[in-house]
Amino acid sequence: MASAHDAHPLQSRVARRLFVVFVLCAIVPFVATGAYAMLEIGRVAAGADSARLGYAAKSYALEVGNKLTIADETLRAMLADDEFATATLPERLRRRPLFTGRVQWLDRDVDAGSAGLDAERLGAVLAGNSVLLLRDTATKDGGVDLTNGVNRPLSVWLARQLPGSRTTVLVELSVRNLWGTIDEFADRANLAIYVAPARLLALSSTERPAEVIAGLGTLASRQRASGESRDLLEFSTAHGGYRARVFDYPLARLFAAPSLRVAAWESEPPLTASFSTRQLVFPALMLAGLLLAAWLAVRQLQRQLQPLNRLVTATRRIAARDFDTVVRIESNDEFRELGDAFAGMQAALKREFAAVDAMAEVDRLLLESRGLETVLDALLPRMSRVVDCHSASVTLVDPMSPDRARVFEYVPALGESLPVRRVAFDPDRLQDRFARSPVLELSGRDAGEDFGFVSSLAECGAKRVRLLPLRQDNAIAGVLALGFDLEQADPESAGRDHSKELADRLSVALSNLAHGDALYRQAHFDSLTGLPNRQFFHKRLRVDMESATAGGSTGALLYIDLDNFKRVNDTAGHASGDELLRIAAQRLGNCCRGEDMVARLGGDEFAIVVRDGSNAEELQQIAERVLATLAAPIRVGKREHLVSASVGITLFGTQGETLEQVLKHADIAMYRAKDSGRNRVVFFEPEMNARIEARVALESGLQRALQDQLFELYYQPIVSAQDSRLAGAEALLRWPNAPAHIGGPATFIGAAEQTGLIVGIGEWALDRACSQLREWRARGLALPYVSVNVSPRQLAETQFPEVLARALERHGIQPRDLLLEITEGVFAEGEAAQAALKAIARLGVRLAIDDFGTGYSSLGYLRTFPIDAVKIDRSFITDVPGNESAEKLVETILHMGQGLNKTVIAEGVETPEQARFLRDAGCDSLQGYHIARPMAAATFGEWMAAYRGAPPAAARQAG
Ligand code: C2E
Ligand code: MG
Ligand code: MG
Repeated sequence: MASAHDAHPLQSRVARRLFVVFVLCAIVPFVATGAYAMLEIGRVAAGADSARLGYAAKSYALEVGNKLTIADETLRAMLADDEFATATLPERLRRRPLFTGRVQWLDRDVDAGSAGLDAERLGAVLAGNSVLLLRDTATKDGGVDLTNGVNRPLSVWLARQLPGSRTTVLVELSVRNLWGTIDEFADRANLAIYVAPARLLALSSTERPAEVIAGLGTLASRQRASGESRDLLEFSTAHGGYRARVFDYPLARLFAAPSLRVAAWESEPPLTASFSTRQLVFPALMLAGLLLAAWLAVRQLQRQLQPLNRLVTATRRIAARDFDTVVRIESNDEFRELGDAFAGMQAALKREFAAVDAMAEVDRLLLESRGLETVLDALLPRMSRVVDCHSASVTLVDPMSPDRARVFEYVPALGESLPVRRVAFDPDRLQDRFARSPVLELSGRDAGEDFGFVSSLAECGAKRVRLLPLRQDNAIAGVLALGFDLEQADPESAGRDHSKELADRLSVALSNLAHGDALYRQAHFDSLTGLPNRQFFHKRLRVDMESATAGGSTGALLYIDLDNFKRVNDTAGHASGDELLRIAAQRLGNCCRGEDMVARLGGDEFAIVVRDGSNAEELQQIAERVLATLAAPIRVGKREHLVSASVGITLFGTQGETLEQVLKHADIAMYRAKDSGRNRVVFFEPEMNARIEARVALESGLQRALQDQLFELYYQPIVSAQDSRLAGAEALLRWPNAPAHIGGPATFIGAAEQTGLIVGIGEWALDRACSQLREWRARGLALPYVSVNVSPRQLAETQFPEVLARALERHGIQPRDLLLEITEGVFAEGEAAQAALKAIARLGVRLAIDDFGTGYSSLGYLRTFPIDAVKIDRSFITDVPGNESAEKLVETILHMGQGLNKTVIAEGVETPEQARFLRDAGCDSLQGYHIARPMAAATFGEWMAAYRGAPPAAARQAG
């Protein structure tokens, strides 16, 4: 783009218009005056020429007239002298210069006509007057040079009556003396004397006489037509133009002769000629004047337009957001004022745009949802551009302790932000101050003394400090402080609006960030412990894994599961459980280095990512620290809880594992730690995978078996110890034709427990047992009750009482026909399971404690819960009779159970001795191979039909 600065001024429309006006103003009067002067000078010159020529013509004519008069008088006197003098007349006349001496006498009788006297003239002669005759008969008169070029020179005669006679005398006049010689005309104009129209008598010029005479001829006619005229007459010949004045000298009165006419002419009348040559000077002068005017106009316009052009260029620069190039106009006129005003506007715009930019930057940063520190880092250095301040700070209340605040400061002169400070903060006092005035303007010293958070602005030289509140939900969340130099003009008003705007934006930023922060924390952090949640943990782990793989380093993942946490929840309530988790999380945080990450994956599961953790020893140390810290008693309220943890460790980075693999490995190792007795650390080893895979296969097999109804129930009789009558039967789960790796009921039921599949399986078993009982009853087989095993998870996780009620109803079974076997683990399962027990009792269904004596519950529950029966675990029965302590234990259980009015059933009775011992000890019922092995339903039906009070020998072999 060519700069407007360089453009020719006439390229501007304004300039062109001004130029035209300027030139017109300069030229019109100049040309008008010049033209008028030219015309006037021409007129005056013509007048002067005319007057001079007129004078020349007239004076010559009068001179000739005088000579004629003198000649006439002389002749009269001579003729009157005496009558004899006639003889000497020629002689006397010759002595006179005006006469040639030739005389002619005319007798009256002679024909006067032959002498050239017509009647009229003859009459005049006879009347005594003189008559002038012009005759062709020229006489040599000593050379009349005035007649030069005239073809037929005329002689001039004077005729007069001789006094007293009838004779007329004619005397010839000397034309030479009459007209004069050419020498006498040297300093006169060209003259011609002639008789109109063109009877030339004398001519003073030898120059082109023929043409001139012809020209004079045309003059004669014009003169006649116009009469007496003082005008210059113009005529032209082949050689050019001439100007003339003509004077008529009337002779008729004196000499009865035609008028003599005198013309004075000149080919180039000197004044007009000189004028017409100078005429060129005028246009030349005018042209020069015009050029000068144009040049001046251009120069002047250039001078005037230059500042305009610079302003135009500067305006374009402003449009292009260039505020730094300042226009300076060095002139002493309004342009300078305009320039100054422009510079002021430019500075204002610059501030305005800087403010807008800074605001836009804030908005952009906010939209990018970066942290507040980033926003402040970007914002503080811009403050001075927005409000022209000397320094700026933002103080933010610490959300955790509102009497403390962090101060972010920037002093442009230092070129960088000061380190963040922590100061004491009193929001209430500020609230008070700002309630009185929304913006506080203080001297730097006062501000520094009053408010600790602005002390460094004052120390850095701020003479005045402006404080604006940053609000969040109407409460003071911080303060924006702007420091000003004294030199700065009126800090009261400078950028006050911008300051407020900045404070408003910052307030919005604070609210947004707080909100965004909350959202971010919600999405990425666990609300209970404040640790990263599973989602965030996965993200971070993925990043750590990638960088480990890329950098060829190794990291480690520790999976931590609290042991027995469920029990805390169940016994002390969820609030205590939560508190325990918080404390455990805190302790875990203290176990690792700053760059390691502790996350809560959910429930009582935690994880630690150790970057750069290839050293097994170091990892072992970390893991042991974890075990130790969690093993220490955790005090919640008044109670102290003892929890331990199982830790699984796996490495990542070396093999380029996927995230899923790493998670699985850590999980396997952790389960391994749990399986092998809890409160220990297990490093993942590839062989573990196989076992885990077996478990996974078992799980999916179980699921399929449940879906495809591959399970079956076996029944084992329970008989009265005293009279061997059939008391009931226990339903036991079987998976006939199970895949080889599945193992016995104890194995797959354990797996079903762990995976939760036991819930569905248990429901199925309950339903199946009820329908079977109804079937047997329908066939008339008297089975007093069926006992069904119920897993603690069933009680804890489902609406078990409803399920139970529905099953009873569906199969038309009385509550008393059912005995539900639960293990002591139920009492560690929590409130839900315990509530379920009570609901079951309310239905009228009886409950038995299975495997009694193996659990670790207190015996208190026997009193507090509606338990109807206890089943002494097989392990106690095995050693009786014979083992005294076993005998004592069994007897004690029997005694206590009966004391509490519970039915006591002995499990695993394999021998008649055991049966006898138990009967003698007063046991209520017996169950075991001694009576019969568990049997398929059909077999058991037959067994019942055949049973007559004593165990049939055949049944004892079945199973
Ligand atoms: P349990 O409830 O204590 O069942 C008694 C177990 O002892 C049965 O093992 C039975 O076959 C075995 N048994 C009975 N008499 C004798 C004996 O004289 N000598 C020996 N050595 N063993 C005897 P089984 O059937 O393998 O069941 C194991 C456990 O699986 C059961 O222990 C029970 O806790 C659980 N279970 C079985 N069926 C179910 C079910 O449907 N639901 C639930 N939740 N658990 C079940
Ligand atoms: Mg049982
Ligand atoms: Mg048992």
